[in-house]
Amino acid sequence: MSPDHDPTPESTLTRLLHADRRAGVEQGALHKPMHPAATFGYRTAAELVAVFQGRQAGYVYARQGNPTGAALEAKLALLEGARAAAGFSTGMAAIAGILLALLKAGDHLVASKHLFGNTRSLLQTMQGFGLGVSFVDTVDAAAVEAALEPATRLVFVETIANPATQVADLDGIGRLCSARGLLYVVDNTMTTPALFQPRTVGAGLIVHSLTKGLSGHGDAMGGAVVDTGCFDWQRWPHIAEAYQTGDPAGWGLLQIRKRGLRDFGATLRAEDAHRIATGIETLALRSVATNANALALARWLEAQPAVERVFYPGLESHPQHARAKALFGGRFGGLLAFELKAGIDPLAVLDRLRIVILSSHLSDNRTLVIPVAQTIFWELGPQRRAEMGIADGLLRLSVGIEALADLQADWAQALRV
Ligand SMILES: *Cc1c(COP(=O)(O)O)cnc(C)c1O
Repeated sequence: MSPDHDPTPESTLTRLLHADRRAGVEQGALHKPMHPAATFGYRTAAELVAVFQGRQAGYVYARQGNPTGAALEAKLALLEGARAAAGFSTGMAAIAGILLALLKAGDHLVASKHLFGNTRSLLQTMQGFGLGVSFVDTVDAAAVEAALEPATRLVFVETIANPATQVADLDGIGRLCSARGLLYVVDNTMTTPALFQPRTVGAGLIVHSLTKGLSGHGDAMGGAVVDTGCFDWQRWPHIAEAYQTGDPAGWGLLQIRKRGLRDFGATLRAEDAHRIATGIETLALRSVATNANALALARWLEAQPAVERVFYPGLESHPQHARAKALFGGRFGGLLAFELKAGIDPLAVLDRLRIVILSSHLSDNRTLVIPVAQTIFWELGPQRRAEMGIADGLLRLSVGIEALADLQADWAQALRV
C-alpha cells in the first residue's frame, strides 16, 4: 500500500475494482457472489474446531459474518487505509455494537452535541444503563478536554454535522485523544473515505452508515466499524480474556464482532453487502459530481432573495471553511442546509418541487430535501430547537448527481414567492 514499499503502487480505485477477482474467482465471477448461507459445514472435525477457535480463517454461523460481507469488509478497510472492518446491519447497529461491546456501566464518554439525532437518542438510552455521557461542542477541542473525567474512555464525533454542517476539530481532538490514551471514534458517514480518512487524525475506530454515500443508490442498508490500527488495545481495560488471543492489534474488533454481532445479532445480510459493494465501486466518481453540484447550489442559493442563510462548509461564509478545506482536500460533501426568509412557508416551497424528492435519507444519487424543525428535530420541542439554532424555515438538502441546471431550475421555480 505504501509507495515506499511498492515500486508500482496501484491506486485505491484500481485495487477496489479488482479486489474480488484477485481474492479468488468463483465460477469466473468478477463480483464476490452472494452467499445467503446461514451456516457452514466442514470436512473434518479438526477443521471445524480450528475455525471455531479462530485459529483458521472461515465461517461458523452467518450471524458473525459471511463471505459476501467479508469481501465488502476488505474493501472498506482498503478505502480507509485501515487494518480491518466489521460489517453490521445498519449504521446504528455499528455504533451500538461499539458501545455495547467495549463499555461498561460507570464508564464515561464525550460526544458531539451536534450528533445525528438517532445516535444522540442511543447515547441517551445508554445513560439509563449507567454510561456517563457529556455532549459538547466538538468544533472546539478545548470543550472536549474540559469535559474529560477520570472514567472517560472514548470520544465520539462526526466529521460534518447534520443538518447545520459544523465541522469538528478532528485534528485537535485526535491529538488530545492520543495524548490521553482515549479511544477516538469518528463517524465518517458524511464525508466517506472519498473526502477524508479519519486514520490521518489518529482515529482508532471509524463508523460508517453504509446505507448512505458508500452504497449511494438507496437500495441497501448496512453499517461498519473500521479499525485503523491506531489504538493500542492492550490499553483498553475491558477486553475479555477470551479475546486476548493472537495479535493485540486485532483484539478490539474481535470483541466487537463477538459481542456486537454474535451476541446482539445485528448482522449485515449478504444481499445488502453485495449491493453496497457494487455501490462503492463508483464512490469516487459519484463524490466528484455530488461535491460539484452541492458547491454550485450553495453559492446560487446564497444569492436568492427568498433565502436567509446557507450552511455549507464550501462557502467562505462558513465558520469552519478553512478547516474543512484543509481536512477534506478542497471538497466539502453533498450535505447543505438553508434557511428561508421569515414569513415564507417551507412546506409550500417543498410542495412546488418537481425533481427534488421529499425524503429523510442522505447521500443518495438523487437530490433529497426535508424540513428540519417539522420532522427530524420535531421530538426536541421548540425550546431545544431554538437553542440549537434550528429555525422553522430550515431545509436540509442532500445533493445528488442530477444535472446541475435541472436542480437549479427546480429550486428557482419552487422559491418563487
Ligand atoms: C444515517 C446515519 C447513521 C445511521 O445509519 P443507518 O444506516 O441509517 O442506521 C449514523 N451516523 C450518521 C452520521 C448518519 O448520517
